[in-house]
Amino acid sequence: MHWSDEAAERLGLRGGSQVIETGTSISGIPHIGNASDVIRGDCVRRSCQDAGVDARLIWVSDDMDPFRKVPAGMESLKDYLGFPVKDIPDPKGCHSSFVDHFANPFIEDLKEFGVEPKIYSATELYRSGAFKDEVVLAFEGRKNILEILNRFRKEPLPDDFVPWTPICQKCGKISTTTVTGLDGTMVSYECVDKEVAGGDTKGCGYVGVQDALKGFGKFPWRVEWAAKWHHFKVTCEPFGKDHAAAGGSYDTSKIISEEVFNWPAPIPVAYEFFTLNGAKISSSKGNVITLSDWLKIAEPEVLRYFMFKKLNKARDINLRMLPNLVDEFDQIERMHFGKESGDVESKRMYQLSQVQEPKYLNIPYTFCAVLGQVSEEQDYESRARWNGYDGFDTKRLKNRAKLAGNWVEKYGPDYLRFTLKTAEEVKAEYLKLDSRIQTCLTQLVDALESVKDPSIYHKKIYETARANNVDPPELFTAIYKTLIGKEKGPKAAMFLMSLGEEYLKQAYK
Ligand SMILES: [Zn+2]
Ligand SMILES: [Zn+2]
Repeated sequence: MHWSDEAAERLGLRGGSQVIETGTSISGIPHIGNASDVIRGDCVRRSCQDAGVDARLIWVSDDMDPFRKVPAGMESLKDYLGFPVKDIPDPKGCHSSFVDHFANPFIEDLKEFGVEPKIYSATELYRSGAFKDEVVLAFEGRKNILEILNRFRKEPLPDDFVPWTPICQKCGKISTTTVTGLDGTMVSYECVDKEVAGGDTKGCGYVGVQDALKGFGKFPWRVEWAAKWHHFKVTCEPFGKDHAAAGGSYDTSKIISEEVFNWPAPIPVAYEFFTLNGAKISSSKGNVITLSDWLKIAEPEVLRYFMFKKLNKARDINLRMLPNLVDEFDQIERMHFGKESGDVESKRMYQLSQVQEPKYLNIPYTFCAVLGQVSEEQDYESRARWNGYDGFDTKRLKNRAKLAGNWVEKYGPDYLRFTLKTAEEVKAEYLKLDSRIQTCLTQLVDALESVKDPSIYHKKIYETARANNVDPPELFTAIYKTLIGKEKGPKAAMFLMSLGEEYLKQAYK
């Protein structure tokens, strides 16, 4: 059974309406790692739907979090360190805030992946008083919360701990305030110098009192998580392995949820993080791609498929090796369409990875990358048929050729990136070749009249070389040298076949 169908089954047993919560802290460009819990959460929603379980997906922008680190290229924002991210202006001036500048395109891109959660902003929830029940419950139960948090801490919190972080009413920072007292829901605090990851933040020295019900402040993270579960009646929560560790935030928030808010904790869907090009995804180190970057090089279904594979396995997205991932996806596509035998789980994975009604393509990504460089769009279909592909959706072919073309330019290996010479130019080179090699090339063009399969044609290249006393590598080099002026190129059989008979007849005869 697929993990998401398993989660849906557990949710069905839990009963009632299901709420799957996801969220992202907006401290810079949300990347595909941030997208993974939303896309996976939506997969659970879809499984619920298929199982007849009522479910909805929500996404909370964690925009009350303090601004801890200035993203690369936005040094103008360094004075905002320590402010709630929601209160930072858009450095580019095109949106109403820093958060919108990054969150809006992320939400738009998610739609392309078939994911449309109900959107909330943590700041708006706090400021509209949506959490007022939770504030009262958390303050009444603060001794209990203190005891629960201390169970998992090396250094215990002080006895007068208040589960609230105010925003300073004078300077607007959230990471500089220290609570000094509590009376009902009135929190006293002072604004002092504090250290944050991105550097020190200066407190303004203000001493004040604020009503937590007005929402100019927030719960500490583990309390906030539980408060959101209670507020939205969350029943399922996907999250990365770091929260799942023993004594980690899920364990703590679960107890707070059950003991303080009297809400049974959501069913966890924990997953292992994936890496990008062999390293941790990191905006500050530049090892990052966004959903919209992905949409320029591959279909959304391929990334969905990648995310829907086994959750508890560390995996890497290597952009240079992207064709291998697409090949894997094409294999489950063949299974789905009954062109290849396959197991139930693979077929289910294919179904879940679809954004729309599936259409068959099964034309390799690498072939598409070549196609875009050797022919005009209107010839793609006939070239593909000539290479033995059949029953495919032409619109998908055109789209994949465009995507693979973008990929080649940005991430592809050198041998796949080339400029094809004109037939006349090739002919001029051909005439300079040794006559044995000329014969080989002409025979290979003739062979295309009967051979329609690249793997058979591949063997044919070797046979032709040997029959004419030519070393096969010598023939391959001649092919690449004449066509693209390079020592190496795409797989020769597929490459020659993609060029079309007319071109080859002019070139090699
Ligand atoms: Zn903007
Ligand atoms: Zn202040």
